[in-house]
Amino acid sequence: SFDAVPMAPTDPLFGLMAAYKADTHAKKVDLGVGAYRDDNAKPWVLPVVKKADAIMRDDPSLDHEYLPIAGLQSFTQAAARLILGRDSPAIADQRVSSVQTISGTGAVHLGAAFISKFYPRQQNQPVFLSNPTWANHQQIFSNVHLPTTTYPYYYPPTRGLDFDGFTEALRTAPEGSIVLLHACAHNPTGVDPTREQWVEIAKIMKANNLFPFFDCAYQGFASGDLDNDAWAVRHFVEQGFELCVAQSFSKNLGLYGERAGVFHFVSGSMERQKRIASQLAIIQRSEISNPPAYGARIADLAMNRPELFEEWKVNLRTMAGRIITCREQLVAKLRERGTPGDWSHIMKQIGMFSFTGLTEEQVKKLREEWHIYMTKNGRISMAGLNSHNIDYVATAIDKVVRE
Ligand code: PMP
Repeated sequence: SFDAVPMAPTDPLFGLMAAYKADTHAKKVDLGVGAYRDDNAKPWVLPVVKKADAIMRDDPSLDHEYLPIAGLQSFTQAAARLILGRDSPAIADQRVSSVQTISGTGAVHLGAAFISKFYPRQQNQPVFLSNPTWANHQQIFSNVHLPTTTYPYYYPPTRGLDFDGFTEALRTAPEGSIVLLHACAHNPTGVDPTREQWVEIAKIMKANNLFPFFDCAYQGFASGDLDNDAWAVRHFVEQGFELCVAQSFSKNLGLYGERAGVFHFVSGSMERQKRIASQLAIIQRSEISNPPAYGARIADLAMNRPELFEEWKVNLRTMAGRIITCREQLVAKLRERGTPGDWSHIMKQIGMFSFTGLTEEQVKKLREEWHIYMTKNGRISMAGLNSHNIDYVATAIDKVVRE
């Protein structure tokens, strides 16, 4: 029987969302969930998505048949061009296997399942994750029986990158280890390596024969520029690495609930690519049989119709721009109040989140006394700020920092 099943803790992020929802205070602020909000704290359906949806519904050939096992090919191929670049040598050489997944989470999972099944490792050789990382990484890998360990990443004194610790860990990792990297807009810290640092990271990883596994959940959302945010991945491909990429369209197209994502495996030859694709198909078939169609159709139109692609880029700049403005304003408002501490890291950090440096105690006070919700580690979702609540949030932070 199942008598011995222990009670699992609730997911901290989804628990936080529930607590926010249950709070009846008029001024409550949600800085927890990593989802874009407009200036009225409302979800934003991207105009490009509305247009794509209308085009799709007008199509008389639209039906509800199954997609192929690897998903909608025009979508997955466009997705490969989006992340790897239109003139990627890997695409030209047909070295890329692309499989549509249940968004970015499903893509990380498919990659993890493939690694677990096929990657020759000494027993118990761990997958390297950044410290800290997206809360789900560790359990996705452990669910497929891959042990994980961490490499130094965030450096609290500078609220920036621990580049020395990071590179030292890469130098000393067992040869051939898998290293999970955030392609851009690191979650939860908002701290990314510079291009020069990426070049160095690639060199060390090459020398130690490490395998890069990129998680790319924020392309275009981070800087507002799709190519700029793909730079690190493209650099690694140019350097001749075999690698994989888990790609999500949740944030950059606002398709959170539609679960549109792709897993790409860039391999060393076309022949190897074919073998890898055949095995990815076996795993996919046993797990989900074939992926959901709606989000893929929307993303397909957004990428493949030139006029929609242009509109998407405008929408991306709107989202990234609003977030950058919120960063500047929050820092300005803290400076206006003379809040103790140097808050410039909020401006330097990039993407959906900022690691504020607020302590667990301060986070608790913000929640209990000010009805402002954020994760315990002091991470705030920048999109939760807007012109109506930013003064209130700045005042609250100022007060709890001084206490
Ligand atoms: N990886 C990272 C680093 C993320 O932040 C997220 C979204 N929170 C994901 C993957 C996956 O999200 P989704 O499954 O919605 O694509």
